[in-house]
Amino acid sequence: MKIVMKFGGSSVATGENIRHVGDIVTQTAKNDCKVTVVVSALAGVTNSLVDVAEQAKRSDEKHVQVFIKELLEKHLMIVASAVTNKPIRKEVAQITEKTIAELEKVLTGICYVGELTPKSKDYVLSFGERLSAPIVWGAIKDHKLETRCFTGKEAGIVTDSNFGEADPLMEFTTHLIRERLSPLLEKGVIPVVTGFIAANQDGIVTTIGRGGSDYTATILGAALEVDEVWIWTDVEGIMTTDPKIVAAAKMLPQLSYQEAAEMAIFGAKAMHPRALEPVIKENIPVRIRSVFHPENPGTLITKEPDSKATETVKAVAMIKDVAMLNVSGAGMVGAPGSYAKVFDVLGKNNVNVMMISTAASEANISMIIKRNLLGRAISNLEIALLERGGLVSEVSSEDDVAVIAVMGANMKGTLGVASRIFATVAKKGINIRMIAQGSSELNISFVVKEADGVAVVRAIHEEFKLDKI
Ligand code: ADP
Ligand code: ASP
Ligand code: MG
Repeated sequence: MKIVMKFGGSSVATGENIRHVGDIVTQTAKNDCKVTVVVSALAGVTNSLVDVAEQAKRSDEKHVQVFIKELLEKHLMIVASAVTNKPIRKEVAQITEKTIAELEKVLTGICYVGELTPKSKDYVLSFGERLSAPIVWGAIKDHKLETRCFTGKEAGIVTDSNFGEADPLMEFTTHLIRERLSPLLEKGVIPVVTGFIAANQDGIVTTIGRGGSDYTATILGAALEVDEVWIWTDVEGIMTTDPKIVAAAKMLPQLSYQEAAEMAIFGAKAMHPRALEPVIKENIPVRIRSVFHPENPGTLITKEPDSKATETVKAVAMIKDVAMLNVSGAGMVGAPGSYAKVFDVLGKNNVNVMMISTAASEANISMIIKRNLLGRAISNLEIALLERGGLVSEVSSEDDVAVIAVMGANMKGTLGVASRIFATVAKKGINIRMIAQGSSELNISFVVKEADGVAVVRAIHEEFKLDKI
């Protein structure tokens, strides 16, 4: 059996956790499995790199120095507890010191020029995984197994140059990954690959979107034609909702690719939204499982939905960090191409629209976008569309909203689900700002004030008895 295993930030948060990861990999490898390992940065490290990059841009050298010292201490402490064998430990510590010295130079450079481009930001963010992967490599080597550490670039993942959200060039990537990793797997060597980071065709470091290690795992899985991709994380699997919101949330044993993709896009953070693309094509099953309960099978994601499942609603998610953008104007009524103009402006400015709703009167269109893009969206729409006598007379926004998404394959064609959802929200006295249902009928999404989000998720979870699923 051939498997790609990805370990998320929480799975590698401490030295003890990393030793545990070493045990899981070893046990699977000894069960006659050819294993490729993908590793995220230690919990919290990528966020701290985002922060320090901003401080460097403001030429705050003092902060950079303190950060570098703390990052080194943190990683060396984890190396010391994750790796038992002394020579291996020394080797990993040396790699750690060398890598952090390089990061210090990069950040100092940014301090001097006072500029942070998407390209240099990706380079800074790549250090999280460049630091964590060698420690996991050491913990596996501790078990006397043959293993080799790769960055995403060294493993052969080549992307376009859309820094921050780069996309793999799958044909070329597949060729390189097979050429570089397959011979090692045949010899029983375990490749350990940094998640999240890759390189463009010029060899410049790129990243494939926050939470992207899941995507790295499925890219490798598809290229290597593995039997399954296992995503190890800190929860039992994909659950009926975020267990941090509802403690009684239940694990969903089986989901279709379509259901899981819908959940991932709508904030079930357990997986990167694009992670399923490479495996859907190759029909490779994905399992989400808990590092703390490796004896459980977790959630299995396959082509078909669970044929035994009869529930209409399977899960409810809340997406924070979004904003609602309203464009209105009597000039839009009956004017062919008016929506196209709005979306054209947003598209050209790299603003992705997550949800749309419009009334038959056509005088208003509401959209949900990421909150951090709101300023860019409004200013560009105003410049392009608000000229006197134009199509649009007003662009307004609300930045304190959240999307609630209710999902399940059996919602399709079942009457009364929407009315039950909205009655539940109404009973709580909570106002709904916007509603959308895709024609796939797998998902009903609506917008409420962010402060009401948790109460709505809890009420819907209870109404559909998801804790008994
Ligand atoms: P990792 O570090 O392993 O990549 P993430 O933090 O990206 O883990 O994702 C796991 C977290 O996603 C869980 O701790 C959980 O709080 C959150 N989460 C949100 N919605 C769901 C859901 N429906 N099912 C499972 N986890 C969810
Ligand atoms: N470390 C990256 C992030 O925090 C990628 C990942 O964890 O999957 O976004
Ligand atoms: Mg994640």
